[in-house]
Amino acid sequence: MYLRNAIIFSIGNELVEGLIIDTNSKYLSEKLKVLGYYVVRIETLPDKLDILVERFKAGLLEADLIITTGGLGPTEDDLTREAMAQALGCKLVIDEKIAQELVERALKYYGKAPESVKKQAMVIEGASVLDNPVGTAPGQMLQLNGKIVIILPGPPAEMIPIFESITQTIKTDDALYTRRIKTLGIPEAVLMNEYKDIIYSNPNITVATMASYERGVEVRLTGSTELKEEIDKVASELLNALGEHVYATDDDSIEDVVYKLLSENSLTISFAESCTGGMISSKFVDIPGVSKVYKGSVIAYSNEVKTSVLKVPESIINTYGAVSEECVKSMAENVRILLNSDFSIAVSGIAGPSGGTETKPVGTVCFAFSSDSFTRTITHHLRGNREMIRKRSTLLAFDIARRGILEWLRQREVSKE
Ligand code: ATP
Repeated sequence: MYLRNAIIFSIGNELVEGLIIDTNSKYLSEKLKVLGYYVVRIETLPDKLDILVERFKAGLLEADLIITTGGLGPTEDDLTREAMAQALGCKLVIDEKIAQELVERALKYYGKAPESVKKQAMVIEGASVLDNPVGTAPGQMLQLNGKIVIILPGPPAEMIPIFESITQTIKTDDALYTRRIKTLGIPEAVLMNEYKDIIYSNPNITVATMASYERGVEVRLTGSTELKEEIDKVASELLNALGEHVYATDDDSIEDVVYKLLSENSLTISFAESCTGGMISSKFVDIPGVSKVYKGSVIAYSNEVKTSVLKVPESIINTYGAVSEECVKSMAENVRILLNSDFSIAVSGIAGPSGGTETKPVGTVCFAFSSDSFTRTITHHLRGNREMIRKRSTLLAFDIARRGILEWLRQREVSKE
């Protein structure tokens, strides 16, 4: 099978200097693989014309598809357009319509429009302009001598929607179909052993697994688009077999799933966070429209706030400690009433590096889910540094919420019968 070669260029001094992380290449290479390309190289380049021209020329000799991100702003150090035009031996021409729009926008927001704003309206001759629904610099796409050149802005929030608008155009006959099954509660080795008869039931499907403390264990089933039905069949068999261990599929995250469960049933949630310090709330409010289901959080980091705001009885803290199932139970029940939500989650743990004891070592984290009909608690013993423990706790907090809401919904169904 001949896969078309692709090269991704991430452009910007701040990338080369290590001031920002190149997430664009990660996103693009994952997508290009599915669209049927083989990414031979990712290059991070500074905003320097001669370097850009030389690397683009080399890339054009080698790859069928070239994608650049960054360097499309209005300032002098934004050189991607000029460099690509030189590498291709094409002229840059002004797109009067875009220039007009940019001038109007600058006048509206800043009261003046310096000549430099028109720089973003310079288009490589023959290229089609790709609308930027979020920012000012449009993308560009050019097909020349059987090669495709795509120029995209740097900010991911601008780059992603523009790229998504052209995926159907650049998709190849070798495009792949992937299903992703995301699980929590079964170690990777156990999952791959106990469910191997389903996972490896079709030799045409490529299986990959990925385990991470932030996302649990993910099984990926991939094959050509013609295998879509077969891949869906294996995926649905695996989903049935794994039951509630599956927290999400495909592009959904665990917080998306909790949000959907709540919004589809017109229910609400609140959080009481200790060691996660607002991380659960922060992840949740990344979801647009979450205000429909989310009441708020109390970050009860100190014992004083646990007792004064959340009304955890001092006797619980004195007898069992702040990191105990008794304490999170009380935190969860009280925050639910305080913030008037249908459900609540509470987390209290020892994220380290200090604070651990023999009976409660670093990584001991207690979770509670509370509803009007039952409260569930669980303690996990997590490993890793402070950041890993806090991130893993956030994931597990959403998981106890997901499982608790599902249990509550099942109980409601039974009581209706
Ligand atoms: P703008 O018109 O906004 O200046 P641009 O195309 O010129 O767009 P850059 O100036 O290169 O983009 O980058 C703007 C910002 O976009 C960077 O400061 C960074 O926050 C983000 N960014 C750029 N490239 C990447 C990348 N490869 N991965 C993640 N973020 C990036």
